[in-house]
Amino acid sequence: MQNTFIIGVIISTTNVRTFDATQTKFNKGERSVWSFILRDSEKDFINVTVWGNTEFVKKLSSTFNIGSVVEVISPKIVKRQPNDRNEQFIPSTSSPFTLIVNEGIALIQKHDAPTHEQYKNLLMQPVKSVTSVKSLKAILDNIEALCDHFVDLLVVVTFIADTRNIMTRDGRALLCRSFEVTDGSTDNAVSLILWEKDWVERSAFWEPKRTVLFLIDARIAYDEYKKKMALSISRQTLIMECPNIPQAAEIRNAVQRYDPDSICSDPFAVPNPDTITTVMTVQQITEKLQKKVTVEGERLQFAAIVKVSVTEMNLDGSLQDVISIKCALCKKVVTDVQDSCMNLSCPAGNGIRTPLNTTKFNIKVNLKDDTGYLIGCRLIGDVAERVLGCTVEEFQAMTVENRGELKWLYLLEKCNVCLHILGPTSAFPRALYNILSIQPCSEETEEAIEQTTAMLEN
Ligand SMILES: [Zn+2]
Repeated sequence: MQNTFIIGVIISTTNVRTFDATQTKFNKGERSVWSFILRDSEKDFINVTVWGNTEFVKKLSSTFNIGSVVEVISPKIVKRQPNDRNEQFIPSTSSPFTLIVNEGIALIQKHDAPTHEQYKNLLMQPVKSVTSVKSLKAILDNIEALCDHFVDLLVVVTFIADTRNIMTRDGRALLCRSFEVTDGSTDNAVSLILWEKDWVERSAFWEPKRTVLFLIDARIAYDEYKKKMALSISRQTLIMECPNIPQAAEIRNAVQRYDPDSICSDPFAVPNPDTITTVMTVQQITEKLQKKVTVEGERLQFAAIVKVSVTEMNLDGSLQDVISIKCALCKKVVTDVQDSCMNLSCPAGNGIRTPLNTTKFNIKVNLKDDTGYLIGCRLIGDVAERVLGCTVEEFQAMTVENRGELKWLYLLEKCNVCLHILGPTSAFPRALYNILSIQPCSEETEEAIEQTTAMLEN
């Protein structure tokens, strides 16, 4: 069909993918692709793929996101083929067709008309009946048999981690966010990761025990990283926020008994300190850690606020004690800023790529309250930069005396410290206490920190 015009709301998007096309038949340098799912009725939704030069594609992807109501003008309409490899990388849609927007031939623009709201309302309605849903218990009990299958789930979010920047082995920077869900059918929560930028940003507004998600075609597969079968969000999975269906209320009720600040399995999921509400003493933390760990191979994790004084911060020692330098690609430790990675199987180590190191704070802090001590709490990365009010580069440029002085911002002060606590495992017999934030209780200290920050900025 020629000159078509389709209006709908964007219900899901992918990241822009860029590749060098000089070796292909197009021979046009760098090209990019971006796709999204467009919906225009209760039942109908279709995949749209945008092709063009990187600037064109990035402009569209940053202008429109989940919830935008758009007009797709003059796209190429293609019949979906069941054996098409591309079908593996997009959610399955109700439409037998797919739309292709080629730069210069088709257009996408904002739909600015009174009907806008009627499309927008479709965003929160499930695209199909939730009768296809399997309970989490049924899935976890049969997870081996379900290998390489796709399942539908209706779940409530129980935990949302902070975003994380990851450098892949081939040097691409990715933003991701872990979160956890459950449905009341089991005591277990399941940890999932969002990789698509739009969803990573949108999930910042999810609320623990409130946000209900309909996950269509979540994938069950062997997870090389966790070394077991696991559920995951793949590129075929369609995520829908469904706050208003009757089942959402039921499922919210079923999870109210969950401990608010417990976290399940992903040891790299860093809790957002603003969401932590549980206050504990050092003794309560110690007692909780001594209780037997639940499932074999799973690490006990929880988050808590402790009201403590900071008794030690090792800022005046040698730089090597407070800063860790790693290869950005393979994450192996590099001994000095000037050194390069020595790992011969890493592109930066064997000379294929220019070495790139990442430098991070890695500070040890001791805390104390009336019930006991927590020794060797870790204050690392961005959190350390926020707490000290300077970047790791600024810190390296300071004199030893100035570095040492920074600790007096907190030392012996009463503070509210948010901790992410990881229990011991057979491989790591010591518990880890990761500091997520330090808030001094007195206003004077807060002022002093602001002054230091201002001084460093000038
Ligand atoms: Zn390396």
